[in-house]
Formats: sequence, C-alpha cells, structure tokens
Amino acid sequence: MKIQIGAIVAERIEERLGYGFQPHELFPAFQPHMLEPLRSWLEPTFYDAAENRLRTSSHSWLLRTPNHLVLVDTCVGNHKNRPQVPRFHMCDTPWLARLAEAGVRPEDIGYVLCTHLHCDHVGWNTRLVDGRWAPTFPNARYLFGRKEFARWDARRPDYRHRHINDHVFEDSILPVVESGQMTLVDDGYELDGVLTVEPAPGHTEGHVRIRLASEGRRAYCSGDIFHHPLQIYHPELYTGFDDNRTQGIATRRSLLSLCAEEDAVLLPAHFAEPHACFVRACGGGYAADFDEVAAQGDAGGAPLSNERAGP
Ligand SMILES: [Zn+2]
Repeated sequence: MKIQIGAIVAERIEERLGYGFQPHELFPAFQPHMLEPLRSWLEPTFYDAAENRLRTSSHSWLLRTPNHLVLVDTCVGNHKNRPQVPRFHMCDTPWLARLAEAGVRPEDIGYVLCTHLHCDHVGWNTRLVDGRWAPTFPNARYLFGRKEFARWDARRPDYRHRHINDHVFEDSILPVVESGQMTLVDDGYELDGVLTVEPAPGHTEGHVRIRLASEGRRAYCSGDIFHHPLQIYHPELYTGFDDNRTQGIATRRSLLSLCAEEDAVLLPAHFAEPHACFVRACGGGYAADFDEVAAQGDAGGAPLSNERAGP
C-alpha cells in the first residue's frame, strides 16, 4: 500500500499484524462503553469481540522523498534478547524480505529516523552478523532525538533503568554510535526540506513526531502518540507504557487538532489496515476517516485529492 503526500510516497513495511492486548491491558482507563458506538467498524479489523482483544500492527514507514529513502521506526527486529516482553523475544520475521519486495535493499536507505527508542521502534537498526550486532543499513545516517538518546543512554551514571527496554541500548543503539552513523537531532530539524522533527513528549520524554509537508499536502508519522484508533475518539486513554500520561494526552490532543485543521494524513506505528487515516473534527471531538486513505491505497498510490472529504 502506497500513500502519496505531494512528492513523497509513504509505504508500510510490515513486521507483524494480529490480535494482542485486551483493551484494559493496553489502556488502564478503558471503559467498555467506549467501544459501543464504534463497534460497527472496529470489528473485526481493530477489535475481536469474541476474544476481547485489540488488533494492532507493528510496521515501519518507508518514505520516498525526492532525494532519499527514509525509514521511520524499525520495529522489533530479529533474534533480539527480550525475555521481558515474550512476543518480542527472539523474533524471526520476514521484515527484510518485505523491504526487498518494496524494491529496497538495506544499502539504499539514506536515513533512519526513530520517533523514540523503545524496543519495538529500533529493532531493525541492527542485525546479527557473525555473532555481533551491526547496523542493518550500511549507508544510512541514523537520526535520534537528542533528548531521547540522553534518556536511554545506559552509559550515563544517572541512567534510569526501565525493565521493558533491557538490552535495547546495547544491541540496537550502541552499534550505530560505534559505527559513526548516528546524528543527534534537535526539535525543528529538517530533512530534504519536506520532513521536520517536532517534539511530541509523553509516551517518552523525548518522543518526536515527523511532519511531512510537500506540495500543499501534510502528514505526520506519529510513532506511539497513538496505539489504536480508539484513542482518536478518546485521547484521554493513556497506556501503561507512557512515561508521562498527562503530557501524552496533551500531545495526542494537539496532533488531532493539527491533523483535522491541516487535512493531514495520520501515519501511526501500530494501526491495523488500512494503517493510516485522516482525522475529522466531529461533535466536539474527533473521528477517524479511513476511507479516503484506503481508496488511494487500492489505486496504488494515486495522489490524494486536494478537496477535503465530506464529514
Ligand atoms: Zn510502539
């Protein structure tokens, strides 16, 4: 599926897709009544009622800008030692084969951008070569937010340990530092004149969103600002993985308002198909509009119309 945003083409590279958390496991403040008005379209793509499980995805966004191939977020990766999260432990997925199906070799990637440095967003930064972790993309600059890198730099004396991210700095970040491929970027950093790194704190302190702006079109790679479409209707739903839930809620609300105002495409990291949507202001809140994105994907990446879709 390809989504065209002006001169940029966004393509999803899947790692996994399926049923996972029960709603209250992912969202501690979840109330069953929140699902009721949405069930007609949430089921079965985004929610399995029989099992009471949310259906989510783990994927990267491959962005073809006029000058470069850019990967946003790199999933869980293969063979990573993650006993603390059993479904991320020692994975063996065909993510690299799917990148190849998109016509891209690891050496073609010019930039890797991580919205944050949690284990399911940095995994394919590296791969196992002769028993050692080596950068997967030999010609890429890896762009990490300066604040986010400082938060997870396990070499710092003031490092605050978080069990969920055990081993991640050592196997997925440090090899990139040691190969000299890392560039730390500040909020406002621009790439190719079409991508901008913007602050989006809450899920982690240094979490960023990536703004795509080309030929009058806008989109946002939102990382973990959203985990599930339910949060478009209930931005107050924080996850147990958020560092600062109040900040996370404010960040979610602010992106919803921007997307609605700018008619921008939301490119989240964990939504099931069609994986991206528009956001419409609706009855004092917001609604997800998947139809236009889905139609464009079926057309193989035909440009999005500049006309705003109906309510
Ligand atoms: Zn995530």
